Amino acid sequence: MAQNSDSGSRKLLGRLRETLAEAAEGQERLNRIVSLIATEMGTNVCSVYLFRDADTLELCATEGLKAESVHKTRMRLGEGLVGRVALRSRPVNTADAPAEPGFRFMPETGEEIYSAFMGVPIQRLGERLGVLVVQDKSARAYSEDDLYALEVVAMVLAEMTELGAFTGEGAALAAPHKRAVMLRGVTGQEGAAEGHVFLHEPRVIVTNPFADDAETERARLREAVDALRVSVDEMLSTAGSGDKDQTQVLEAYRMFANSKGWLRRMEQDIESGLSAEAAVEKEQSNARARMEQVGDAYLRERLADLDDLSNRLLRLLTGQGTDTGAEMPENPILIARNIGPGELLSYERTLSGIVLEEGSVGSHAAVVARALAIPLVINAKRITTEALNGDPILVDGDQGIVHLRPEESIQSAFRDKMAMQAKAQQRYASIRRVPATTVEGPTIALHMNAGLMADLPSLAGSGAEGVGLFRTELQFLVRNQMPKRGELAALYSRILDAAQGKRVAFRTLDIGSDKVLPFMNPLDEPNPALGWRAVRVGLDKPGVLGMQLQALIRAAHGRPLTVMFPFIAQFEEFLAARDHLYHQMERERKLGHPLPSKLDVGAMLETPSLAFAPRLFFEEADFISIGGNDLKQFFFAADRENERVRRRYDTLNTSFLTFIEQIVQRCAETRTPLSFCGEDAGRPVEAACFAAMGLRTLSMRPASIGPVKHLLRRTHLAKLREVIHAARDTGHQSVREPVMDWMRNQ
Ligand code: PEP
Ligand code: MG
Repeated sequence: MAQNSDSGSRKLLGRLRETLAEAAEGQERLNRIVSLIATEMGTNVCSVYLFRDADTLELCATEGLKAESVHKTRMRLGEGLVGRVALRSRPVNTADAPAEPGFRFMPETGEEIYSAFMGVPIQRLGERLGVLVVQDKSARAYSEDDLYALEVVAMVLAEMTELGAFTGEGAALAAPHKRAVMLRGVTGQEGAAEGHVFLHEPRVIVTNPFADDAETERARLREAVDALRVSVDEMLSTAGSGDKDQTQVLEAYRMFANSKGWLRRMEQDIESGLSAEAAVEKEQSNARARMEQVGDAYLRERLADLDDLSNRLLRLLTGQGTDTGAEMPENPILIARNIGPGELLSYERTLSGIVLEEGSVGSHAAVVARALAIPLVINAKRITTEALNGDPILVDGDQGIVHLRPEESIQSAFRDKMAMQAKAQQRYASIRRVPATTVEGPTIALHMNAGLMADLPSLAGSGAEGVGLFRTELQFLVRNQMPKRGELAALYSRILDAAQGKRVAFRTLDIGSDKVLPFMNPLDEPNPALGWRAVRVGLDKPGVLGMQLQALIRAAHGRPLTVMFPFIAQFEEFLAARDHLYHQMERERKLGHPLPSKLDVGAMLETPSLAFAPRLFFEEADFISIGGNDLKQFFFAADRENERVRRRYDTLNTSFLTFIEQIVQRCAETRTPLSFCGEDAGRPVEAACFAAMGLRTLSMRPASIGPVKHLLRRTHLAKLREVIHAARDTGHQSVREPVMDWMRNQ
């Protein structure tokens, strides 16, 4: 193209717009477009390749290559130059294609005679849609301006693909958001849900990618950018200096919002014929493509900031503000890149499921989702690009799989699975009032874990005997400021009211590690899980612990009170924490407040060291609760939040079960009540093995009580114990297989 880039691509876009306006079927449209581009760019070949499925590109239209190869020629992602453009989301521009690494010619297309090759990705907001290619017989080098023009055209093609302009014939032409997609993530919370997509941050649909008048578009863009800058400044001034992280993000926003380069690129896009919205999206798409490529976590975060900022700008341009007005569909499944616990709680219990693109099993959102018993899949890559509001979706929290716009067969298989689960639930409901008495006699006490007021109704429904673990930190995590003593006392009191005399074991604040309070400065520790957390913080900074203990004593108001301290690693920590409690009791007594009628003070055994504490510790503790999540991570030295190592060591590993057995024995010697409250207590087979090792109290999420009780009632503990011991004696690393075989034969 001889003209300068802007006027060249503007002319090309003008012609493209006319072509798109003509009434034609999808295929005919594509044919006209490739022929138009070839003519306008004065090149022999122009072809469009679109994705047939996630890994396969198909030649969908061509000017210059053999017509018979259309819808026949296919390549895999990464294969040949076309596949490389798609894989890397980056253009390839070469005068000598056969000399390029990875070149592979497709004989059926007759392309062996073409030397020059230029291909650009057709992508929209990080979503790969296809590749646009021009080729020429001469060994010409396409100019930078040619490349820019082709990118602008690809952008328009992406928008039009999104709007379904090329649908009609041929499966590869199906609009991208119509296809069924399966995404594999990681289990955040078990359970299955069927529903409809509800986007936490809905996408803005750009309906007109063309600029009617560049001057007007530029003015619109400037106005929106000005409004954006003002809103970022406002956010910064209201954020104050309280939250370092938030301020840092907002500073990055401000930097981008004021970036001349960003504005200049968007203005150039407008100059070349795009509308203001399309220009924002073009730059956003580029940023997303880069985001997928960069390894550096800091850079990725900054690109994510730019992405958020572009969304805000698009909303301003389309007048959608932040309120998109999208109605919550029936059985909403929330889709988000990530979400904070407070935001998640603001949806209350309306959600049927949650799918996050990022997140981690131990994130606060996961903790809240677990507390609310909402199926959650995390690390579902690309879910925010693939899903549209209202799309049908199936969430399989057990397998960590998401089916978006599922096919009929998948849907019916999934419904069968849900029906089976519902049937099982009925079976569990029928044994709600009966005890978990095993075949030969011993009864296991089943308690539930909780952390929110909203959990308490489950106490009656689940058949739990009490609350074996109340995670008090959840109340702190979902707030923006430190709760006051009065508020806490009122809340704890309501919890005791709701428990109607059943025992509630309040665990004092367990913060640190991954649980960072929004209103406290996060510490920069090399190993937070081994760092300043839980009771260590409480003992070093007793103000908050003292306030919480006062609130608990006042909430009890003459009723029995059970308190347990988390993460006790040595005897003295338990004594010191208990002294704090005694001190607060004394203080409250002097103030004239009624004291609890009975006080039980326990320790959580979460580090192997405590299992080897002096006998006196076991005599002093009113009870001990094994925090299996932490205990297991320290026992195997395998981070519970690290997906690479998390599942490496089986809970039914003979070493771990032997360790549990030893703890049981030590507690038996001093008659110290012992329970287990980690997640594993809620897994039926694990629970049965713990019971076989001698545990008589288990605490788990409410939904697990039915399945655990069901299995326990059919288990002969002494026989199971023999199976475990026999497996250990014969050198099994994990007893899972022999135990499962034995259970199947029962
Ligand atoms: C545990 O560690 O097992 C436990 C119950 O505490 P949390 O999961 O809250 O650390
Ligand atoms: Mg713990």
